[in-house]
Amino acid sequence: MKKHVIKLVFVGHVDHGKSTLIGRTLFETHSLPEEKYAEIKKVSADLGKDAELAYLTDYLQEERERNITIDTTQIYFKTRKNDYVIIDAPGHVQFIKNMLSGASQAEAAVLIVDAHEGVREQTRRHAYLINLLGIRNLIVAVNKMDLLDYSSDRFHLIEDEVIGFLNQLSLQPIHVIPISARLGKNITERSAEMGWYNGPVFSDALDHIKQKEQSDRKPLRFPVQDILSIQEREIIVGRVEAGDIQRKQKVTVLPDRYETSVREILRYGERRKRARAGESIGIVLEHHNAIHRGSVLIVQGDEPITADEIRVILFWMSDEPLSIGSDLSLQCSTQEVSCGPLKIEQRIDSSSLKLLEKDARNIQRNEVGQIILKLQRPAVFEAFSKIPELGRFVLRKGDTVTGAGIVSTQNTQS
Ligand code: GDP
Repeated sequence: MKKHVIKLVFVGHVDHGKSTLIGRTLFETHSLPEEKYAEIKKVSADLGKDAELAYLTDYLQEERERNITIDTTQIYFKTRKNDYVIIDAPGHVQFIKNMLSGASQAEAAVLIVDAHEGVREQTRRHAYLINLLGIRNLIVAVNKMDLLDYSSDRFHLIEDEVIGFLNQLSLQPIHVIPISARLGKNITERSAEMGWYNGPVFSDALDHIKQKEQSDRKPLRFPVQDILSIQEREIIVGRVEAGDIQRKQKVTVLPDRYETSVREILRYGERRKRARAGESIGIVLEHHNAIHRGSVLIVQGDEPITADEIRVILFWMSDEPLSIGSDLSLQCSTQEVSCGPLKIEQRIDSSSLKLLEKDARNIQRNEVGQIILKLQRPAVFEAFSKIPELGRFVLRKGDTVTGAGIVSTQNTQS
């Protein structure tokens, strides 16, 4: 099986050390091309650690420039246990667009805080974004410990400040690690200067990231793609997005909400007893009333949200601003429904993440909005962090995609 590559995002206030930590991590985990590695070793043997660092920074800069034409900057590295890819960082309009549209969804975040400066404005905004995107795997690196003479007292002060602030957002970091990215302390090797620190070094902390729950361990979600009439039978086709489905199983059809059970499961013309997440199948139900493209079959007990009013986080990409009363079409999995914004609760700058306006009248191109959408009829949604396929949507005007977004976990109805 192909090894899963964990997607990471590095966030933090400008100058707190994101690039340095990325460069240092690549270096210490031997993830640079072999010839680069040899070159850097030689330069730093001749000129010292600062030359090594300067070299790493230049290398990353080159990588960025080379990747400028593609959507995301992707840098790979390996630890003892896992493979990682660092996807783009905030500061680029593309970043939030990619995160919201699902082009690149990070599973874990590394928040870098300068030990000298503590929590600053971008630390707050980036943490807010992490929370919004439902990323629960968070590692805090308290950087530049060399500037504080590796003092445990100073570290604990910063640690308390960071944890206090993150807890307000209901974020709980997996680890808070004192490091020096510049000098390579507590990155892959324990630093002798910080013997008082008992937790894992940075690369080991990454290996504690809880990987995404497998889709087939989740409750059943089967969005209907189409209904085919073949030899007097109605075959309901679609892809199992989460959970599994079995013959004779009781299911509930949403949003119309009635119960029925599964008579047959077909895959590639064969009868099956069971189908799992990721499989495209046809099913025949014992009976059904209203069922159509966009209906969602679930198991009772762990229900999604069925609502005609929903709070979303939206990235707007059309030249024509989004305003209250705009007439749009929302597409979420196989569901398609007319909608329009009822309320624009927040208008946010997508690169600085600054709150531009509350209760706004419109959202301009490349801005982000926290919005209440009113749908023409109820549709089925899920928190993005739980089942992304039902937590992510696009908005269209005619044939043009004008926005992409995710369902916020707090909803106005359920
Ligand atoms: P970014 O804006 O968050 O990517 O920050 P950079 O990685 O560009 O670092 C900003 C500045 O902090 C640079 O001058 C780095 O050399 C310096 N820096 C980064 N890490 C450390 C560290 O561990 N100790 C010290 N003293 N300086 C550091």
